[in-house]
Amino acid sequence: MTAERINGKALGLSIRGHLVDRVATVTERLGRPPGLGVILVGEDAASQVYVRNKEKAALKAGMKSEIVRLAVDATQEEVEAAVDAMNADETIDGFLVQLPLPKGLDESTVTDRILPEKDADGLHPTNLGRLMAGIDAPRPCTPSGCIELLKEAGVELEGAHAVVVGRSTIVGKPMAMLLLSENATVTVCHSRTRDLAEQVAAADVVVAAVGRPELIRGEWIKPGAAVIDVGINRVDGKLIGDVDFAGACERAAAVTPVPGGVGPMTIACLLKNTLDAACMQAGLDKINL
Ligand code: NAD
Repeated sequence: MTAERINGKALGLSIRGHLVDRVATVTERLGRPPGLGVILVGEDAASQVYVRNKEKAALKAGMKSEIVRLAVDATQEEVEAAVDAMNADETIDGFLVQLPLPKGLDESTVTDRILPEKDADGLHPTNLGRLMAGIDAPRPCTPSGCIELLKEAGVELEGAHAVVVGRSTIVGKPMAMLLLSENATVTVCHSRTRDLAEQVAAADVVVAAVGRPELIRGEWIKPGAAVIDVGINRVDGKLIGDVDFAGACERAAAVTPVPGGVGPMTIACLLKNTLDAACMQAGLDKINL
């Protein structure tokens, strides 16, 4: 079997294209464009690239983008003051603090300080709680993007056995919740899981979010499964995922490449969350992706 490559770049662009009209409507209603803010602390090379891509995408959609850059040795108080300023800024509808923060800064205190209604990443504990309770709220961007990719590939999630590898708050845990809400039967694997190969081999849907290059071997994949590779690993100057892509292509029905799979979807969902927040402010109904 040669797997279908699920093209996240094309789907992300198409979603962003559809947002443009909504951005124009909200801009007219508010008398200003919807605003996305990013707080970037330090000089991490990968974070700089991600933040630049977010800004480019926001501007292209007709939104305002504001990046606040803080030095690598910024104090907890300085980062929290930047969050407070974004919370108070009426031209910013949604914002995020780019993670990971430099060592010594407390990420959860910083995330907690973001107003839940301005939480563009959907990672505030209130919004994660709403996700668990099935209440409308901004959804975490990367897992939401994965669900959109699975739908785009025509994968039947209802009743499917989905295996999520990784249990982070950013990806693994919310991914499991979103799959559950699509009526999948979900297994979450992590660093202490004893029989990873066996778990993956039983999955109709595999979502890999670990950060270990090619941890998931092609020969583990159940023939006909769908594979979503969230991992981004830089090896010898090249980006590769958590899945042995060539091996997975031999067995899976559909698989996402790295790059060009999940990454562009994360950005599309970030813009959608920001626009939804602006719609709320403008008293406009949200329109789904
Ligand atoms: P994390 O380090 O917070 O979590 C990694 C998870 O992997 C942990 O839950 C851990 O238990 C699990 N794990 C570690 N070793 C394992 C093993 N041998 N077997 C099974 N599980 C194991 O990472 P994260 O923030 O969830 O990110 C995971 C990957 O996804 C990283 O490569 C990151 O760069 C990437 N990522 C990509 C996007 C995107 O937009 N494409 C967004 C977020 C994260």
